Amino acid sequence: MKHYYFDHNASTPPFPEVLDIMQKWSSPDKWANPSAKHHQGKLAAQAVTHARQQVANLIGARDEEEIIFCSGATEALNLGLQGLTRLLEVSSTPTLIAGFVDEHPAVGSCLEALKKYYQQSSFLSFETGFATPKTLPLSQSDDRLVVLCRMMAQNETGRIFNLRECRHQLLRDGDWLFSDLSQAVSKMPVSVVSENIQMAGFSGHKIGGPSGTGVLYFTRKSPRLNILPLVFGGGQEQSFRPGSLNLAGIVGLGLAAEMSLKNLEQYCLHLSGLKAVFEAQMLQRIPEARIIGDENLRLPNTSMVILPDKVIENIRDKTPGLCVTQGSACASAQGKSSHVLAALGLSPIEVKNAYRFSFGRTNTIEEVLEFVDLAFS
Ligand code: PLP
Repeated sequence: MKHYYFDHNASTPPFPEVLDIMQKWSSPDKWANPSAKHHQGKLAAQAVTHARQQVANLIGARDEEEIIFCSGATEALNLGLQGLTRLLEVSSTPTLIAGFVDEHPAVGSCLEALKKYYQQSSFLSFETGFATPKTLPLSQSDDRLVVLCRMMAQNETGRIFNLRECRHQLLRDGDWLFSDLSQAVSKMPVSVVSENIQMAGFSGHKIGGPSGTGVLYFTRKSPRLNILPLVFGGGQEQSFRPGSLNLAGIVGLGLAAEMSLKNLEQYCLHLSGLKAVFEAQMLQRIPEARIIGDENLRLPNTSMVILPDKVIENIRDKTPGLCVTQGSACASAQGKSSHVLAALGLSPIEVKNAYRFSFGRTNTIEEVLEFVDLAFS
């Protein structure tokens, strides 16, 4: 069976160079604990510092100390949000924490849980699940800090959000922006400094890095953010995320970050070429197909399309090796339909017939054309 892997928003194949370097850092002379004070430990620690710098460069962070290595975006985003919330509660800081309806569950479900957990709090309030926030911006006389969660790019539709505009419209000077960068990094330029993002997270496996790696970023200078850790241990990662480091994973993630940044422009051109061919050829053959979202506001690799029933049957018959997602990977794994598409006003039938094609660096134009010929003829 021929596979057509058009599901890069769910996960990307690791760069071969990443696999090589991970093997190297798992070999008999390069596997020591980076916290160890002996020669081998110091070598490992240097490799981790280098990876931290590579990751900081990818997201335009000022300082590599602002990068905390985690096991993935879910952990990073939870550590950031929960750790921040705990600290704001403990420090009696009046705060409104707000999140849009179309955030990934790594943020949306976390916010819902925090809202329940802190419902008796005198300092924290939450506004979650909105399409357009009603209470923001707060008046200048409202002394609550606002932490607004706004992802940079949506995983299902590929919609890119203009965070500067979002800040301009919804926040006051001094309020904080928390952004899930999982779908943006490696598909568009990202700079936490110029976008004025105070806290962010993403996963390694979505940028050609290893699974089981991720990054939490938070600014350590103006403002100097802090979090309370969720687990306690040996003091690694400035005690924010203790535990012996995943050396090979971190080194692999660092290299993936460097390669993603180096090839970003060329990679984006490749992706938008694939998407343009796919969409044009599909619409030529299936004029009833509908693409969700404005072309100029979408990631270069993502086409969320609503297909007629007969086309879906044809795809199943002719291209059983197609790998795409209906709604988000997490929602479809749980048999849930997409809350994001429902929030956009799509009917249950449209949501059922919505397929996300997300292209990646290993796809070719020939492969896309071959798929289109088989599936849409
Ligand atoms: N945020 C977004 C936008 C995502 O697309 C995903 C994964 O699909 C995540 C967070 C969670 O990433 P992970 O499952 O790697 O922790």
